[in-house]
Amino acid sequence: MALRSTDILTQTPQGLYCPLGDFHIDPIRPVKRALITHGHSDHARAGHRAVMATRETLRIMGVRYGEDFAATTQEAALGESAKLGDVTVRFTPAGHVLGSAQISIEAGGTRVVVSGDYKRAEDPTCLPYEVVPCDVFITEATFGLPVFRHPDTRDEVRKLLDSVALFPERAHIVGAYALGKAQRVMALLREEGYDKPIHLHGAMERLTELYKSEGVPLGETPKVVAAERSKLAGAIVLCPPSSIQDLWSRRFPDPVTCFASGWMQVRARARQKGVELPLVISDHSDWDDLCRTIVETGAGEVWVTHGQEDALVHWCTTQGIQARPLHMLGYGDEGEAEPDETAHPPVEPPAHPPLEGEGRSASAIRGGVGSASADEVAVPTPPRPLADPPPQGEDSSP
Ligand SMILES: [Zn+2]
Ligand SMILES: [Zn+2]
Repeated sequence: MALRSTDILTQTPQGLYCPLGDFHIDPIRPVKRALITHGHSDHARAGHRAVMATRETLRIMGVRYGEDFAATTQEAALGESAKLGDVTVRFTPAGHVLGSAQISIEAGGTRVVVSGDYKRAEDPTCLPYEVVPCDVFITEATFGLPVFRHPDTRDEVRKLLDSVALFPERAHIVGAYALGKAQRVMALLREEGYDKPIHLHGAMERLTELYKSEGVPLGETPKVVAAERSKLAGAIVLCPPSSIQDLWSRRFPDPVTCFASGWMQVRARARQKGVELPLVISDHSDWDDLCRTIVETGAGEVWVTHGQEDALVHWCTTQGIQARPLHMLGYGDEGEAEPDETAHPPVEPPAHPPLEGEGRSASAIRGGVGSASADEVAVPTPPRPLADPPPQGEDSSP
């Protein structure tokens, strides 16, 4: 008799837990044995005794937390099965960032796939997503609303290059998350033929070196020297999102503020952050890709971990797929999530006038504005961890 999905995976305060294999996946608190899908700080945390992950993810964790981040580590070779207790696990590419993997767990003829974060769009910096047929598919829903349709990233990068050509006297400061997004933007720029140096904020240096050492061609990426900033007219500079509004970026010649994020589809958010050139580049699946992926896995049951869970759960039920939201806290991906403006409320009111019924509270501002326009849609605020915030790494700060 096939096992029930809950015999294979259950929800605990630490995160998803497999009792038959005695391990957690992407736990938010220190555990005995953790299997990690990818290196973003809300999934890969420090303090576990044993960690199993792909070689690249182990390296990323080593860069972030020090080489002794776990007592023991085990490298998961992509596509190969390993026995853990009474279950068989297998890591398969998730297409999210370098080293990212889905983890499938199989026991008694039932297969559960934890996808972690994933995308279907092309990304020159990591292996493409592979569909793993399964009985239960566990998905995130960061962009799980039908209004979220991500454009072709090449068009977004061309917008940046057009602007650079148009304003040779200005520096373009591009906010991008230090793991994944920054390197993807660089690789996309190279694919479009941009061969000048791409200047980096110091916070991006080590992870970019790691990508290069893994064979991702990113070209010349010098670190910005503080005293030289005023000389970078016409240059492209990448920095963490928090730095685009900092004093740091104002020292460049007449800076054009850019931000590469899936959230840039919501114009109110771009305005609120003072982003002059929003670049809609996401490392997560948009609505169409979430739905397509669910169908392609053939899963009869879907669990939605976090994000816009309700819309995706509803869509599943209309397709005859059983689905439930897990409302998991602690995952507000550093790769795409909005900075926690509750902790750092914006000093300035949003640039746009308040619409009828729009409150002035931080949560209303964060939620965007309700209107008929698709890109101004009200996006519910993702749940934020209150008691247990993600570790504040150099690049996970808002
Ligand atoms: Zn992620
Ligand atoms: Zn995430």
